[in-house]
Amino acid sequence: MQRAANSQDKPFTATGKRIALTFDDGPNEGAAATVLDILQRYEVQATFFCIGAQAQKHPAVLRRMVGEGHVVGNHSYSHPDLTKESDDEVIRQLERTSEILKEATGLRPRLFRPPFGSVDDRVKSLARDYHIVLWNVSSEDWRRIPGPAVAANVLAHLQDESIVLHHCFEDIRGTLDALPYLIEIGRALGYEFVTADSMLGVSPY
Ligand SMILES: [Zn+2]
Repeated sequence: MQRAANSQDKPFTATGKRIALTFDDGPNEGAAATVLDILQRYEVQATFFCIGAQAQKHPAVLRRMVGEGHVVGNHSYSHPDLTKESDDEVIRQLERTSEILKEATGLRPRLFRPPFGSVDDRVKSLARDYHIVLWNVSSEDWRRIPGPAVAANVLAHLQDESIVLHHCFEDIRGTLDALPYLIEIGRALGYEFVTADSMLGVSPY
């Protein structure tokens, strides 16, 4: 595909087709760092929905994310189904995580992805200071499927504005293997890679 090399050119990317890659449940030293290395190699910016308990342990990885142009969002402190938690606990999960992310990066996140995508009117109301970001393409990588299956799940469901769900679990081999191909094929198909806030037209911090 000769055209992939020109994917940064304005005329070629002006197709309106965009992909926002998102990576949940980090940060960590292994998988998240590998994802960052791949994104850096391809000059792609992505969105990382981070768990507070992980963020506390890996502030340097968060700083690297922000320093390399990625967006960091809130994914709760300990990954509960928030629809089953009390009002106070929902607020605590959000607030504690935002404080940790702010302490590490200097930026207070405005993007929020509820664990499991589980959200109801009450949680929405409690999280009203945030932009809730779900997804419309799932890589299904949490099933620990191999790289070709991850790639197939994403490519088969791409739409003009795709928010793609990946994870950066320590053992997420499938996504690490698939990612370079997804980026190369996505560009060859005329997609531009953007952060979730940019796709949704909202402020990330
Ligand atoms: Zn998650």
